[in-house]
Amino acid sequence: MKIGVLALQGAFIEHVAVLRRLNIEAREIRLPAELAEMDGLIIPGGESTTMLNLMQSYSFVPALQEQIRSGFPVLGTCAGMICLAKRVSSLTNDMKTLAAMDMEVSRNAFGRQVDSFEAELAVPALGEPPFKAVFIRAPLIKEVGPGVDVLTRLPDGTPVAARQGNLLATAFHPELTGDLRFHEYFVKIVAARQS
Ligand code: GLN
Repeated sequence: MKIGVLALQGAFIEHVAVLRRLNIEAREIRLPAELAEMDGLIIPGGESTTMLNLMQSYSFVPALQEQIRSGFPVLGTCAGMICLAKRVSSLTNDMKTLAAMDMEVSRNAFGRQVDSFEAELAVPALGEPPFKAVFIRAPLIKEVGPGVDVLTRLPDGTPVAARQGNLLATAFHPELTGDLRFHEYFVKIVAARQS
């Protein structure tokens, strides 16, 4: 199994490190042609407007959209979640996302960088114990369509992780805490699609 990590911008190195800890062959992806060999892709956190700009410039958008239509698994974290969402409030200059997950997300929903925080979240799909989630100038999920399952919520009920088929999105950074369960969950989705 080979999993790519989109390496145009942002926190890609940490995802590569987690995949390697799980003994998965991980590749940094900088060109759409490199996706062909991959069994799945992680879109990391970073700055979504910059990342989407670069994805447009390097023609990732149509290539990825086509792969996603055929069931290609993608995990998007933080800015990566914004890239996957169909609808984004407060995305500057009408930037186009991959529009792959039927949900609306709100960027920078918790305020500025200094308002970053951690939360222990119950994630039934991962079992016990709760998952320590790190939110860095994070987005939140405002609403999901019928095909989207919410995987966890903040104590106030705000959804912050979701799954739609082989697509997985987290508002937080699961690559930063040493808890590998979110990546393991994604690897299982990739493995299930292979078999
Ligand atoms: N604030 C960033 C954005 O809107 C996301 C931050 C992150 O990925 N940690 O793109």
